[in-house]
Amino acid sequence: MAGTLYIVGTPIGNLSDLSERVKDVLRNADLLLVEDTRVSAKLLNHLDIKKQLVSCHEHNEKEKVELLARAAEKDLKVALLSDAGTPLISDPGEHLVSKAVDLGFTVVPIAGPSAFLMALVASGLPCDRFSFEGFLPDKPKEIRDRLMGLVKDPRTLVFYVSPHKLERTLAEVKALFGTRKACLARELTKLHEEFIRGTIDEIVDKCSTADWRGEFVLVIQGNVELEQEDACESQNEYEEYVRLRLEKGDRASEIAQDAAKLFRRKRSDVYRLVVDYQKGR
Ligand code: SAM
Repeated sequence: MAGTLYIVGTPIGNLSDLSERVKDVLRNADLLLVEDTRVSAKLLNHLDIKKQLVSCHEHNEKEKVELLARAAEKDLKVALLSDAGTPLISDPGEHLVSKAVDLGFTVVPIAGPSAFLMALVASGLPCDRFSFEGFLPDKPKEIRDRLMGLVKDPRTLVFYVSPHKLERTLAEVKALFGTRKACLARELTKLHEEFIRGTIDEIVDKCSTADWRGEFVLVIQGNVELEQEDACESQNEYEEYVRLRLEKGDRASEIAQDAAKLFRRKRSDVYRLVVDYQKGR
């Protein structure tokens, strides 16, 4: 005998997104593992469900495995919830679900919203292939390194952005992706839901004159130019890439090797550009 683990998606702002199926699962669960007991208590109060909540967050997730093993022995129904949206998507639960699989649980995902998907489908950008990148790192240099690894990616890129890091993140994104189309989705499913579309440069301009609060998802067009035969259109990104690598202190030969591969340039041409930059031209 092993139990059932329900991975329950909950609203990201709009309580009308609560499905009948979610309500049933919450009513019938034997054990509720939640990211923050105070946040989930509000949701359960709203549904008039009275149950004990057990906290399960990134710092104690591993300790909950023992609890899961006991639940498996008793064939219990366990529901996993995060504060908002789909658990495991930039939220805790990965370790727990992996252990549940090992323990022989039946794992049942219960559909609910996820901010990245809502933003992507409303962005107006291609959805056939995309890469969900979660949160970018904290420090500008780390952000830049991560973004550099994505310059060549032809897929639409989706990022979560914390409100207090919005300005810093956009500044770094602008340096490499300024001319690309993008969409900044704000307060999805809530009263002040908004989609700011345009190039990254345009979005940054709009941001500088507005006092935006709330929650954000940033969707950026993939590198479509590189897919085309003439790679010259990505000239700006190529030059910016070389400049940023130089700023980082990388060696000219390494930059030439990487940029030649990424942007399909001759290594000697990249090298010349590096030298030009070094001479301050
Ligand atoms: N598990 C959640 C999901 O499925 O979307 C994501 C949790 S993550 C800790 C929180 C981030 O998701 C926020 O910082 C924001 O980037 C994004 N987010 C969550 N709710 C949002 C909303 N209503 N509008 C825009 N972004 C949202």
